[in-house]
Amino acid sequence: MVKRQKNSTTKRVAVIGAGWAGCAAAVTLCELGHQVTLIEAARHLGGRARVVEIKGYQLDNGQHIMLGAYTACLDLMRRLKIDLEQTLLRLPLQMVYPHQTGMHFIAPKLPAPIHLLFALINAKGLDRADKMALARFSTTARWMGWQLNQDCTVSELLESYEQTERLCRLMWTPLCIAALNTPPERASAQVFLNVLRDSLGAKRKASDMLIPRVDLSSLLPDAAARYLQQKNSRVLTGINIKTLRSTDQGTWCLDEVPRTENGTENEFDRIIIATSASQCQRMLADVSSSSSSNPELPNPPEFSYEAITTCYLQYAPSIKLERAFFALADNPQLAQWAQFVFDRGQLNPEQAGLLAVVVSASNNAIQNDHSTLSKAIAQQLAEQLRMPELIKPEWTQVITEKRATFACTPSLPRPENRTVFHGLVIAGDYTASDYPATLEAAVRSGISAAQAV
Ligand SMILES: Cc1cc2nc3c(=O)[nH]c(=O)nc-3n(C[C@H](O)[C@H](O)[C@H](O)COP(=O)(O)OP(=O)(O)OC[C@H]3O[C@@H](n4cnc5c(N)ncnc54)[C@H](O)[C@@H]3O)c2cc1C
Repeated sequence: MVKRQKNSTTKRVAVIGAGWAGCAAAVTLCELGHQVTLIEAARHLGGRARVVEIKGYQLDNGQHIMLGAYTACLDLMRRLKIDLEQTLLRLPLQMVYPHQTGMHFIAPKLPAPIHLLFALINAKGLDRADKMALARFSTTARWMGWQLNQDCTVSELLESYEQTERLCRLMWTPLCIAALNTPPERASAQVFLNVLRDSLGAKRKASDMLIPRVDLSSLLPDAAARYLQQKNSRVLTGINIKTLRSTDQGTWCLDEVPRTENGTENEFDRIIIATSASQCQRMLADVSSSSSSNPELPNPPEFSYEAITTCYLQYAPSIKLERAFFALADNPQLAQWAQFVFDRGQLNPEQAGLLAVVVSASNNAIQNDHSTLSKAIAQQLAEQLRMPELIKPEWTQVITEKRATFACTPSLPRPENRTVFHGLVIAGDYTASDYPATLEAAVRSGISAAQAV
């Protein structure tokens, strides 16, 4: 719970960008008693986790999954009075492949870490050497406090912990790609350990997997907008901020924000830039170059990006998988790109027969055109789920976010919330955090940006 500061003076604050970071920042500022204007370039709030309209359906720009360890997200949702039972399907930690195509690992409802021990003993598709390797990994990581002296790649970490080929293929690689959206040979071992520490290394509920039942804009950003409006703060959509102008009074002016009668509604005491890293960098560079007396910017962060592709496949409403989601064995050599499939009908009855298939770190998969990719995915589903009827979907839709997340590589420098400019703070999933680019990193960043204001 964010406590309202005593004796704090109310500030007029603009938050530019209404992704999850911007929404978290705006709500927190409002709770702290500030007067907030949340400004979004798009029509819908949510940024990279938002609703899109496809063939009359309200779908997401990409299937997302959250973890019980996402404490900042879940706390913010509770503060916004979002019913977590209604909006999220909570499942125990699991990695289940269909029909012995991989492993079958489900954590029972037992206190941590016994739940992992039982899951390990009962896991199918792993032999004794795999189970011993997994137990060794978990014990050593706990003993080291989930902390490395020096960061390295996840592949190097797995090698040093003598993980078996099968365990790497069936568990560590899909987990690493799902959590960091970066292949193990390039992913940061320390960030991977941070995620494991807060999920596998914490209470059982922290390792639960939470799958949204509603679209991502409804899940949090729309509730944030309602809250802000109730508190007399403003939410403006369809406004693309191009320039930040500092005034002689030490305030900031956003020319694109419509003025109201008293003429001061586009002037702010503080600004939070909650856009993507590259858009933020452009804005900061413009501010820096607008006057020779402005401080110089430190070197910009050097991010490279990874894509994520979601393929929606609509079948007859009677089509139902045995579980709400399965892991899938991917093999690019066989054009098997998919890593997870979600049965949307089990999350929301209005979406009966709709499957959402995720291809993370999809830079190679998207060399194929949409039709080739969706045919290959339908084929993979039909084969691995042993459901020949999945070959022929009624329609498909491929959505690729080319810059879904930054590549989370070892020892990657990430900027702090505060900038060199007075009254200018940044927020987003790319700012300094021990988490990879996720909803949780975005929300944590938004909250700490608001507190920095
Ligand atoms: C396909 C996909 C799947 C993912 N899966 C998962 C997952 O399973 N679990 C998970 O935790 N995370 C997942 N992520 C990552 C997660 O979505 C992001 O980390 C998070 O949404 C980033 O939020 P943000 O607020 O930092 O940035 P953004 O969402 O990028 O928000 C920035 C906002 O600023 C707006 N903006 C930009 N410029 C301007 C301007 N000049 N004026 C006004 N507004 C502007 C943009 O329109 C946007 O709304 C996934 C991401 C993608 C794309």
